[in-house]
Amino acid sequence: MARLELSNLHAKVAEDDGEKILDGVDLEVYSGEIHALMGPNGSGKSTTAKVIAGHPAYEVTDGEVLLHLEEGDFGEDFEIPEDKRTWNLLELEPNERAALGIFLGFQYPAEIEGVTMTNFLRTALNAKLEERDELFEDDDADEEEEEDVGYETSPMEGNVDEGEVGVAEFQGLLQEKMEQLDMDSKFAQRYLNAGFSGGEKKQNEVLQAAILEPSIAVLDEIDSGLDIDRLQDVSQGINALRDEQGTGVLQITHYQRILDYVEPDKVHIMLDGQVVMSEGPELAEKLEDEGYDWVREQVYETA
Ligand code: ADP
Ligand code: MG
Ligand code: MG
Repeated sequence: MARLELSNLHAKVAEDDGEKILDGVDLEVYSGEIHALMGPNGSGKSTTAKVIAGHPAYEVTDGEVLLHLEEGDFGEDFEIPEDKRTWNLLELEPNERAALGIFLGFQYPAEIEGVTMTNFLRTALNAKLEERDELFEDDDADEEEEEDVGYETSPMEGNVDEGEVGVAEFQGLLQEKMEQLDMDSKFAQRYLNAGFSGGEKKQNEVLQAAILEPSIAVLDEIDSGLDIDRLQDVSQGINALRDEQGTGVLQITHYQRILDYVEPDKVHIMLDGQVVMSEGPELAEKLEDEGYDWVREQVYETA
């Protein structure tokens, strides 16, 4: 089981003397669980997501983001040595964090012309697996490889290299995942995000997470702008991430609505750059009925 641990996390906008946005965030998310992160607009939810992923717009001024891994987290065949089970994510590049199993879906995924969904997803998967191998390579082996530069393959050969997951194998995987998400298989032949509706972009985000099989997926407002049918499809996909592949989901949402379909194991409330409450799913229902005012009152009364 993987565990993402944020402790006393402080962050501000990079190259800005302004106020900190995150003011001591404590939060733990476990693989195999759904954690809802809720809170009023501007409380720091999206910033938390971006800092986890390593977005360069933010500078961490204090605190830690740790990822704890266990043997078996990357499947039975992948050995995780004891000295590589705890990772300080703040020391790693965004792609290295992704390789360790952190997935961040974007609020508005970019449109890239001329790249099909299938190619995009296979490239992303192979890049992740390759980067992960590099992170777990032992350091002696690394040195030997560097001496071998004379035998490096040409850039042309690099281009035709199939990567760890070849075309045929990937087709099978993609089909399986699309069935799991109840998606139309024609979707895979379309160009990345070109002409996708808002709902299709969100489904695409869940499909990416299904293909990459992250330990922890951070989904920021994946429910915004969805009609009820699409909300149900996306929710079913999120449940499948947890149930079929043991992904832990940090589900950021301003509204309680999606939690009718994706029942969280834990609900966290963020206020003014801190997580001020962490409780069970009943907390989301209370927010639905009563809003956030009582939280604010309670927090500042006892402070
Ligand atoms: P939430 O997702 O909870 O609505 P955000 O994390 O997006 O909140 O923002 C928290 C606060 O930080 C807001 O006041 C927002 O204006 C500010 N903020 C976030 N990112 C930036 C940025 N890149 N530049 C300036 N202010 C920012
Ligand atoms: Mg936000
Ligand atoms: Mg410190």
